[in-house]
Amino acid sequence: MKIKNFQIKKQNISRILIGSNNKGKIKEIRDLIPNKVKILSTGDFNLKSPKENGKTFAENSFIKAKYYSKKTNMVCIADDSGIEIDILNKAPGIYSARWGGKKGNFNLAMNKVYNELSKKSKNWQNKKIKARFVCALTIFWSSSKFITVTGKVEGSISKKKLGKNGFGYDPIFIPNGYKITYGQMKYSKKIKKDHRFKAFRRIRKFF
Ligand code: IMP
Repeated sequence: MKIKNFQIKKQNISRILIGSNNKGKIKEIRDLIPNKVKILSTGDFNLKSPKENGKTFAENSFIKAKYYSKKTNMVCIADDSGIEIDILNKAPGIYSARWGGKKGNFNLAMNKVYNELSKKSKNWQNKKIKARFVCALTIFWSSSKFITVTGKVEGSISKKKLGKNGFGYDPIFIPNGYKITYGQMKYSKKIKKDHRFKAFRRIRKFF
């Protein structure tokens, strides 16, 4: 699927649906959008999630934004994000949520990361395991009016799970320039520098 962004005139969105069922993401996106904007979430409509059969973060964020917008007749913002680990050929990547299983158990998902790293390299703990968080955001007004942007944060994998803040893979990701994981970082600090923030900066003019 090729995603073509349209030239969209600057305009102020006053009402938007956040197309996600992930509480951690909904909170972050809610906190990025200016307070004056009325925000609804998929929980307000009792909607199931669409099949994420895209091959990239961008495609999956587009699929979600389009699906939820069509179901609700609202302008929708949707995120697709995850963690890429270079030595694992960029896994889990777009499968980051799926590594947590049906129940979204990220303790299991992080154990799986450690298992996969051990399979690749016996002494991975002595190396810098390069990784990045990626976030694609799509705002979908209609099939002839949408925009998709991406943000990334480079970093590495911590030898242990550290910290109780955040969600998902936060306890094992150390952003470059820091000695602590996202799980140890204050939420107020993380959301001013993470992959979602970087992607959002590119579309904040629409609010
Ligand atoms: P999806 O975009 O709904 O397919 O899910 C992305 C998955 O990537 C989430 O369930 C998280 O496990 C992970 N993820 C995305 N962004 C973050 C983040 O900021 N911190 C930790 N994990 C994240």
